[in-house]
Order: sequence, then C-alpha cells, then structure tokens
Amino acid sequence: MKDKAYASMIQTARDLFEDLSFEYASKWKSKDKSRRVIGFLPIYIPKEILHALGMLPVGIFGAGDRLPVIKGDAYFQSYICHLPRTVVELALNGNFTGFDGFIFPSICDVIRNLSGIFKLQLKDKFVRYLDFPQNFQKNIGGEFYRSELDRLIADLQGLNGKKMEPKKLNDAIKLYNKNRQLLKDLREIKRDRPQNISAVDYYLVLRAGNTMSVEDHNDYLEKLIELVDKIDVMPEDKIKVIATGSFCEQPPLGLIKTIENAGCYIVEDDFQLGHFWFPEDIPENSSDPLESLIDMYLHKSTFSSAVYEGDQPKGELLAEQVRDLKADGVIFCAPSFCDPALLDRPLMEKALTKHHIKHTSFQYHENLGQFHVIKEQAGTFADMIKLWE
Ligand code: SF4
Repeated sequence: MKDKAYASMIQTARDLFEDLSFEYASKWKSKDKSRRVIGFLPIYIPKEILHALGMLPVGIFGAGDRLPVIKGDAYFQSYICHLPRTVVELALNGNFTGFDGFIFPSICDVIRNLSGIFKLQLKDKFVRYLDFPQNFQKNIGGEFYRSELDRLIADLQGLNGKKMEPKKLNDAIKLYNKNRQLLKDLREIKRDRPQNISAVDYYLVLRAGNTMSVEDHNDYLEKLIELVDKIDVMPEDKIKVIATGSFCEQPPLGLIKTIENAGCYIVEDDFQLGHFWFPEDIPENSSDPLESLIDMYLHKSTFSSAVYEGDQPKGELLAEQVRDLKADGVIFCAPSFCDPALLDRPLMEKALTKHHIKHTSFQYHENLGQFHVIKEQAGTFADMIKLWE
C-alpha cells in the first residue's frame, strides 16, 4: 500500500510541475542577494558550473496543456514542434521575470532559433546558445568544448561577480554525483518493481530535480526512495517497455498514464534524459574539475538523437538496452515535427527489427488531450506480445 507520506511527497513534485510562475526559484533566490536563477532548455547542461557560481539551474520544458498559446504561434511556422510556442508564451507573459539568464544547448535548429527570439525579446537577460562538440577527440572536440565553457563561465561570473573556484566546482560535482546515484537507485526500483511507483509519479520526481536545488532534491530523493522501496504490491500483468524519443518536448502526463494503463510498464525512458547523461560518477577531487566535466562529456555521454553517434550506432545501443533490461519491446514516442527524434527513428527501428525486438511508434504534442487512439495502439502492442511472444 502507498501511504500518506508517499502521496504527500508526490504532491510536492506535482505542485512544482504545475507551477508556471517558478515560485520555488524566486524563494530560493530571495535568500541571498548574490544568487541567480538560470533557465535551461533540454537536454543536458553542466549544472555543476552554475552551482559553483551560486546559481540555480531551472529546466524549461514548455508548458504542456497548462497554458493556451496565443502569442507564441506568431513566432513560428506551423510545421515545427510545439515546445518553443509555450516557451515563448511563458517569456512574453512575464513568467520568467525572476530569471537572470537562459542557456540553450545545441540540440536542433528550433532551439537555436528560440535562443535568437529570447535575445530579441528579453534584452535585459543573459542568453547563451551553448554549442556542444560533435567530435570526441580531446584535441579537437575537447578544446572546442573548453573554449565554450570558458566563455560561458566568464559571462556567468559577470552576473553576480563570483569567481569560479576549483574547490567549489569539485563540491558541486560531489552533490550532483550523489543526485545521479539517488536517481539511479530509484530507477533500479522502477526497473525491478515497476508496480511500486507509477510512470507518472516517477516522471514528476525526476522533473522536480530540474526545479529544486540539488541539495533539496537529494534530501527529497533519500526520503522518497525509502518509502518506495518498502511498498509491497503485486505486479500486474503488463509487458515491460522502453519509451524513447521524448527527450525534449515532454509528453503530457495523460499520455504517460495511458501507456501504463494500456498494459505497459515503462522501465526506461528518455523524458528527463539530462539526469542520466553520465552513467558513472564524475571524478570529485580533480585539480582541474572543468577538465573532468569535459572528459565525461567526450567519453561517457549517453546516446541521444542530439549527439553524433560516431562508431556506436544508436539502434544497436537501444537493442542492447532492451536486452539488458529484459524489456519486451520499445515504444517510439516522439513529438510531432521533432527532427532529431524522427530522423533517427527509421534507423533505430531497422536495428530493432534486425534483432527481432518488437516496436511500435506514435507522435504527440505537449498539449495533446485525446489519448484513446494511443491507448488502443499501446494496448494492442501489449496484447500482441503477451499472447504471441
Ligand atoms: S522537440 Fe525536437 S525539434 Fe522541437 S525543439 Fe526539441 S529537439 Fe528540437
């Protein structure tokens, strides 16, 4: 049975998810004059750098169905994804007033253009398009990435006058290593006993980690994991699936719930992929912690449609993940018009088919409100595997 303490903790995460005024960030900032709040777009940024400079990284993942798009549509053509529309709407409505700046990681042209709109519309804020290397040799991609990070640090320092100190960066790395470990612990429970925490609850907990400070999220996770671990319920007759393709524009909560209610336990997904960007700890006591962050990015980043695959085809990595998790199949679940996800999909489908792994696919947008077609599709997929595999 799930008790009141569990319900109350999930409600905390849900309140943060619902809050488009970012009150948590405003309160956090009000505690010290030197604190700054920096919004970031999906998927990954080196949050440790912000922490070391006394700044709170806050994930901006659109507004889902919680905000009607009135002005945002005027900035974009119809045939692109939905996320930038709600992000612009939030910006123009003043929801980001308490933010001091924004980082737009290089994942696609839409994000690049969005950073341009922010530069034009929010002239008093710091706006940075952060380029990541697509070459993974230290003397090429590594040097390029260091120059990007040096420039970022120099500009961030100008926001509150603090200086980057290696010790502070090492301390931040320690805190985020702990956060990654706790998230992995929770993920392990979700994989082994998916009945203990629903996919929606799990999602809300991960999402809270992109709103709360890392210290608060670590405390929160420690308490929650204890509760989730103790839950004793029987698993239902559901297949285990990996959901992939939703690393940027987020699926509506109703969609996540629909997949699970249709007979699929989601044992792995990429909804909040940035938390799991590195599979292992970043060295904590380096004399050059920035170098550690760079090395991790070059050599240990997870696979993603936003990153060049080099000699490790993503379809093969996905097939490996299916085998490791003993998943029954894969649901390709991507936002409409998402170039990175949809361009990769045929290659990944081909690889899964080659390995005789069952898969199905559909598209969504963040404010989708009708799920019956997806319920039928996911339900049929689950039944097909249960009956004939
Ligand atoms: S949903 Fe896809 S296309 Fe849209 S901004 Fe994100 S990565 Fe780019």
